[in-house]
Amino acid sequence: MFHISDIKKYNRCDRYFYLNQLAPKPYFPFATCNESTLELAKQFLNCTEYYEGKSGDAGELVLAQLDHYDTFVAARFTYQDLRVTIPFLRKQQDGYQVIFTNNQCFPKESEAAYLAIACWVLKQNGIQVNDVKMIHLAADYVREETLDVFKVLMLDDYLYHDKKQTHKTIFEIISEQKLDVDNLLIGMRSALAEYPEGKQRSSVCTHRGKCDYFDRCFNQEEKPDSVYNLVQSGMKYDLVDAGKTELGMLDGDDIEGTRHQYAQIMAARSESGLYFDVFAMRDWVKRRIQYPITYLDFEWETYVYPPYQGMKPYDVLVFQYSMHVENTPGAPLLHEQFIGTGDCRVAFIEDLLAKIPAEGSVMVYNAVGAEMLRLKQLAVQFPQYSERLKAIWERMVDLSLPFSTGNIYDVRMAGAYSLKKLVEIFTDYDYHDLSISHGMEAVANWRSLQADEINDEIREQLYEYCGMDTYSMVLVYHMILDVLKKYE
Ligand code: SF4
Repeated sequence: MFHISDIKKYNRCDRYFYLNQLAPKPYFPFATCNESTLELAKQFLNCTEYYEGKSGDAGELVLAQLDHYDTFVAARFTYQDLRVTIPFLRKQQDGYQVIFTNNQCFPKESEAAYLAIACWVLKQNGIQVNDVKMIHLAADYVREETLDVFKVLMLDDYLYHDKKQTHKTIFEIISEQKLDVDNLLIGMRSALAEYPEGKQRSSVCTHRGKCDYFDRCFNQEEKPDSVYNLVQSGMKYDLVDAGKTELGMLDGDDIEGTRHQYAQIMAARSESGLYFDVFAMRDWVKRRIQYPITYLDFEWETYVYPPYQGMKPYDVLVFQYSMHVENTPGAPLLHEQFIGTGDCRVAFIEDLLAKIPAEGSVMVYNAVGAEMLRLKQLAVQFPQYSERLKAIWERMVDLSLPFSTGNIYDVRMAGAYSLKKLVEIFTDYDYHDLSISHGMEAVANWRSLQADEINDEIREQLYEYCGMDTYSMVLVYHMILDVLKKYE
């Protein structure tokens, strides 16, 4: 049986769909859905008497119940080998109302095609849909002591486009969709019949993050100086088609002209493979860095539903920090760390404020979207600490900026500048040597720590991972100082 999620995969890429059916990859959701949206929506809609479907139901089951109930929850309907789940179906005077559910605050218009397919399947089953609505999260909701289902959820007639604006009702957008479900299903069946050959790398492979099967499809063929690694480029696929496959082959007309692109080309043309803007970096160190340097990193969990007072939908709970302190240039490092479970926000803040040096630079990686944002959110939730937290984020220096702005580029970076990548290139350390090797794995392990507070092994692995992040910053910053020394 196919589901709507399979159609989404097939629409992305037939090979992706094929590989996902053959060898599904483990999925690490970026946010924990800590409540059942369906159960909350039942309360929200005051559903008391209803027919409820379950996974794997044959389509005939619900059809046999249509005359016996007015409300259907999670009912499964089928058309050929496609099965759709309709969260809520309510009988009205001349037809039915469909209510979809969505775990986002602003469900996107791009979902409309899939909602339309679900409604189309209902029509094939003789069900006339007269109204379509969506239950989703209310972005402005702030939790009090308990979760208020009537405030955290909202019933909406609209979907939202990229600027979080609405312009047509869900029913109108669905009605405008041009569907050819029969042909779609024929395509999906034939995609599964044999491995789709002859795929070329395209923006689909990296849109909103690298495809899970990217390495299997392309990486063996790709060199670090490949034009595919050109950043911020709308032309790279055309350039490859035109035979310009290596960064060193490009000239001014081939790029949009960002500093980062310039650094990539200069690195590819240099013998060492490194581009390093000595003047810019000397100025950055001189103006921005003051001792003691505190290298700081947080780990956090994102929750769909606010689990604790003062939190909003999709707020994060910071549960861990690691801090390496370098008091004077090259002095032995001091290390502090914290890990909490449950609602550890106040404990986290107090421990951080007690341990962090009162002056000097606070070096973080990707400050604005990460550690700085986390502190600002905590300052809103706990205003009694806001001034002292602000004093920390005002001292933050973002170590990712020299790499993201093109002041430093090594051709082995292959267009990326994550801390893990830099450590592998510039030092002998490697995150792969750790028991936990990426952030989502750390979060997954913290989740298990919640259920098993005394598991020292997991606690140690989390300390090791977060500590590696701050130690990596020390190594990368000292790599910068070492290069600068050569030019003194
Ligand atoms: S890497 Fe590209 S071609 Fe390969 S499965 Fe993913 S989207 Fe398809």
